[in-house]
Amino acid sequence: MLLTNFPNFIQRIIKNSEEDFYQVINGCANCNYAGNLHRHASYYRTVICKEITARVKIQRVICPVCRKTHALIPSDLIPYFQHTLETVVMLLEMLIVKKKYYTRIIEDLNIINPCFSLGHITFYINRFKSNIDNITYYLRVYCEIFLEIPVRDSDIVTQILNLKPKYFNVNYFLKLNRSFMDTPIKK
Ligand SMILES: [Zn+2]
Repeated sequence: MLLTNFPNFIQRIIKNSEEDFYQVINGCANCNYAGNLHRHASYYRTVICKEITARVKIQRVICPVCRKTHALIPSDLIPYFQHTLETVVMLLEMLIVKKKYYTRIIEDLNIINPCFSLGHITFYINRFKSNIDNITYYLRVYCEIFLEIPVRDSDIVTQILNLKPKYFNVNYFLKLNRSFMDTPIKK
């Protein structure tokens, strides 16, 4: 899996969700082959953004040497989640920084597309909290951002917003080889 920046991704899926999200990828992280990876199969996944719910084509590329495939995941998405990065970060901001009540959030969100249920909200918040230690580590080591101990969840969300969620999403994945909303590492 590679998190890849596709400019105007959201605008493009609003216009045509089955558009070709492909760009040339140079080099294979698996075997260190230095040339271009080849286009391989594609698959569809559901993407829920503020404006619409769309069926989006995800391109895979394959290394001609080791045959490992990599899905090109747009950096506006969090791997394995249907809600876009923007909507998940918006939810975290409402809950953790602005400290809105669940019922108020659901009311507010009913005017836009995502329609998070209470189950979604609880799931996202718990998943985020289970990654706090990893995110704190990432901010300290790779961004030289030191947070006061005890680290407050709201400070973490604020830092993600300051770093621009898309860049944070991509760089976190590059450095730690996992998503900031991944299942927690078993200790
Ligand atoms: Zn390879």
